[in-house]
Amino acid sequence: MNEYNANRKEYDPRMHSAEHILNQTMVRMFNCGRAFSAHIEKKKSKCDYHFERNISPDEIFRIEKKVNEIITSDLPVRESLLNREEAEKLVSLEKLPGHAGEMVRLITIGDYDICPCSGMHASSTKEIGEFKIISTDWANGVLRIRFRIRQQEEK
Ligand SMILES: [Zn+2]
Repeated sequence: MNEYNANRKEYDPRMHSAEHILNQTMVRMFNCGRAFSAHIEKKKSKCDYHFERNISPDEIFRIEKKVNEIITSDLPVRESLLNREEAEKLVSLEKLPGHAGEMVRLITIGDYDICPCSGMHASSTKEIGEFKIISTDWANGVLRIRFRIRQQEEK
């Protein structure tokens, strides 16, 4: 959860918000887990998934289409603080260290995604810009997706 602090200079809340949407899209489309590792930077980012194969150009197209559909829907990105027991009813806290009673910060993206996160986010998905997958590769059970977003100032 704190990995985002490591490269704060390059940190981009919009890129990171796109990561949330990509993760939920991967979960819905392939029934895989969210990325177990991510490197999020302003210019380009990458997410790694436990996966049994590479994905096809058609699948890449479908992922981009779905992520951009969520972005252009202008869904609100909201945070809420719940105690651990309440939070566990909504999301898995397996990867979060901590103890009962502690407050957990949950980030929701409209009704599309909910996940515990301590990072900074866009306030609505429209701010993110157009999502584009640069490339994917697969080795040893790990699918890596590299992506960028086309932001307003580039238009
Ligand atoms: Zn986040």
